[in-house]
Parts: sequence; C-alpha cells; structure tokens
Amino acid sequence: MSKPSNLSRRRVLHVGLAAAAAPLAGCAGLGSGPSIGRVVVVGGGYGGATAARYLRLWGGNVDVTLVERNANFVSCPISNLVLGGHKQMSDITVSYGGLEAAGVKRIQGEVVAIDAHAKEMRLADGRKLPYDRAVISPGIDFMLDQVGGLAAPAAQERILHSWKAGPQTLALRRQLEAMPDGGVYALTIPKVPYRCPPGPYERACMVASYFKQFKPRSKVLVLDANPEIQSKKVLFEKAFADHYKGIVEYRPNNELKSVDAATNTAKLEFDDVRADVLNVVPPQRAADIARSAGLLNMNNRWVGVNWLTMESTAVPGIHVLGDATFSAPLMPKSGHMANQHAKVAAAAIIQLLKGEPVSATPVVINTCYSFVTARDVIHVASVHQYDAAEKTFKTVPGSGGVSAAANQVEGRNALSWAENIWADMLAT
Ligand SMILES: Cc1cc2nc3c(=O)[nH]c(=O)nc-3n(C[C@H](O)[C@H](O)[C@H](O)COP(=O)(O)OP(=O)(O)OC[C@H]3O[C@@H](n4cnc5c(N)ncnc54)[C@H](O)[C@@H]3O)c2cc1C
Repeated sequence: MSKPSNLSRRRVLHVGLAAAAAPLAGCAGLGSGPSIGRVVVVGGGYGGATAARYLRLWGGNVDVTLVERNANFVSCPISNLVLGGHKQMSDITVSYGGLEAAGVKRIQGEVVAIDAHAKEMRLADGRKLPYDRAVISPGIDFMLDQVGGLAAPAAQERILHSWKAGPQTLALRRQLEAMPDGGVYALTIPKVPYRCPPGPYERACMVASYFKQFKPRSKVLVLDANPEIQSKKVLFEKAFADHYKGIVEYRPNNELKSVDAATNTAKLEFDDVRADVLNVVPPQRAADIARSAGLLNMNNRWVGVNWLTMESTAVPGIHVLGDATFSAPLMPKSGHMANQHAKVAAAAIIQLLKGEPVSATPVVINTCYSFVTARDVIHVASVHQYDAAEKTFKTVPGSGGVSAAANQVEGRNALSWAENIWADMLAT
C-alpha cells in the first residue's frame, strides 16, 4: 500500500485535473542505462496498471508499453455506491497520466491477436508490438450463450450487467432513477466462480439504500443461482434484516435460464419474474483476448498459471493476472488480488529478464470491503502463501477473517483502501 503522501498525489491524477499531470509525461521515458527488455501489458485495470507501474519502479529499466481500450481507469470497487447515489462517476475515474509520468508508454487501443511464436501483438488498427515478455490482465467477458435471449441486441440494450464499471454503471443508475416508486429491481447472480463474490450483495444493499430514502415502496429482488450468499453471509443477512426489511428479498437456488427483453422478464427454472429494472450478472470466463491467444486451459474458461511467475501454463512468455486466472483455492477474483498478482509477476519478469532466479516464497493478501449502508461497511480478509509441494497458493491458517459487525470506522477504511490502491496502481 502507498504512503499517505501519495493520497494527495492521486488527487492530481483525477480526470478533471489530468492536464496538470500531462506535462510530466513528456519528461518521462526510460531511465539511464540500457533496457533489460520489452514488456507489453494488455489491460489497464487492477492487474495491468499495477504491473506496468511496478515493472518501471522495480528496476532494470524495463521498456513497458500498456495497451488499454479506455481513455481512463474506471473502478468497479466503489461503483455500487454510484448505483446507490452516494458517489459520482468522477469519484471512481482516474487518469492514466501518472503511469505515463512513471515512464510507461501508453497506447489507447485494443489488442486483437497475440503471436506467441513471433512474440508480437497485433492491435485493431493494424499496428504490431514486439515483446520479450507479455502481461495480460484483461478481466472477464460474459458467457451470453448460457442465458437464453440475452445475446440479442434488444436484450443487450435494455438488460444491463454493470459488472464492468463505465457506461453501464451510469446507465443502470439512470434506469433506477426512472423506475417508479413501488417498482421491482431484480438482480440475478450467476453460479460461482464470478468476479467479486460479495459484489452482488453489496449492490443489493446500495440499491435498497436508495429505495429506502427515495422510493420506499419499491423492492430489491435478489435471484441467486447459488445455494446461499457467497461471501460475508451472516453479515449480509443481518444487513438485509436490520436495514432493508420489506425492501430486499433474497432467493437462493434461483438460476436464470433465459430473459424476455420485451417484457423485462427473468425466466427461472420454476418461475418467471417480471421486473421494472432487470440487472443480469451473466456467467463469466477469462476475457476474449485470453481465449483467442489459446490461453484457456482450465475448463475452457480460465487461464492456468505458474503461481511463482504468473506465466501461463498453456503458452510460454505470456503472464496472466487477475480475474482471468483459474483461482487458487479460496483466492477471490478481486481488484486487490489482481494488484497482488501483478507484483508477483513484475518481480518475476524483472528477474527472468536479468537471468536471475525468481522468488520461491511469494505471499499475497486480500481485503474486500462491502458497503451495507452509505457509511457502514464489512470486510473479509485473507493471506495466501505459496505451497511448493502443491504448486499453488494456500490460505495461511489463522490469518484473515471477517468483521464482527458492520461499522463506520470500516466505512472510512474502505474509502481509504480505494484511494490507496488507485495511488498504488496509477500514481507516478
Ligand atoms: C460491482 C463490483 C464491485 C467490486 N468491488 C470490489 C472491491 O470492493 N474490492 C476488490 O478488491 N474488488 C472488487 N471488485 C472486483 C474487481 O473489480 C476485479 O476483480 C478487478 O477489476 C480485476 O482486475 P483485472 O485486472 O483482472 O481486470 P479489470 O480491472 O477489469 O481490467 C481489465 C482491463 O483490460 C482491458 N482490456 C481487456 N481486453 C483488452 C484488449 N484486448 N485490449 C486492450 N484492453 C483490453 C479492459 O478495458 C479493462 O480496463 C468488484 C467488482 C464489481 C463488478
């Protein structure tokens, strides 16, 4: 985590003040001495931005290029507060100017192919980028074919996921604002594994907090394909009962089979639910570029990695981070964990480029905060240590745990966590 002094630094990086950071980019570039190698990073989210920055920070004068589709970083953590009306999009949007100032060459674009033999990436505009080592942290894409009717253009337009922060976050907020009091917001949750296990339950709380204040006759219906709440179960159950009785209804074992976009209806195994706002979080897999690069060697869905280096077990020379990986036991798909993957990878890549041995004993940590009201927060934490015999990360017995109860101190900690991790990824 970054030092407190970085917090004020990060404020300079907010989009509104991006211009203030921009001149620094012109002065940046590689430091003195010869480069030890070229690394191309795909995806400027939690994993990719951290990897790009730490490859620069940790030495060896690595030549780092980051390719990201979007102009700015937009955070999924805290995005549920935007849905609840407690934060704005500008609060979760950070400029990439700090990375450029740190010497990362940034390309706004899309990588459409990776040729692992030629060690070259191809961009949508036809440009080619050679690399010595590649890092991809592309996040997730959705398995739309698993939910009947969802892939149709009309469904895609009306039935939002908002499970990637950005335009859909704002669009869902607008649907909630337009919903009449007395309406039903239905949220469907896919079977695990999916991005951010506590995220849907936090979302239910945030939408309910909005309804409680502004549309008190409205309902939040949570249709969960899983048999029970997947993270911080007792604490979320308490939040639903203490704060949102009569507003939130939780239904386990309710797997979405198909949707009817014309009537905004979720079709379940035994039931049809018509909603005023239908928010479908579809089943997920590693993002498209991981699939087209031939990396999906775990259930044809996720990427297997060597946990000492984060290098793909399917295609040499490509290091894969974050949600796209096949998770180690009890390892969550979280922004915090993607940030940790990135540090393991950055250290290992520098050592590999220098011909040195990589660390044999990595340890990574995770904390996920969830807002249950605009101010009360709960957390779950864990420590994961590499186990040489089983070649995977395993949780350290007795480490981590969950909050005793929702509280406002953790509310402040959660906002500090976000400020700090954004600075850790994106400051100079
Ligand atoms: C509602 C919600 C709340 C959450 N809350 C928390 C929380 O409180 N704490 C927490 O730790 N985690 C939280 N998460 C989870 C967290 O957002 C993810 O685990 C994290 O973003 C994963 O990082 P990543 O680098 O794998 O992917 P991402 O952060 O999604 O980054 C992937 C990036 O790659 C880019 N990209 C993909 N393919 C290409 C390509 N071909 N070319 C160029 N660019 C490409 C995308 O544009 C994107 O910017 C939450 C998630 C959601 C949805």
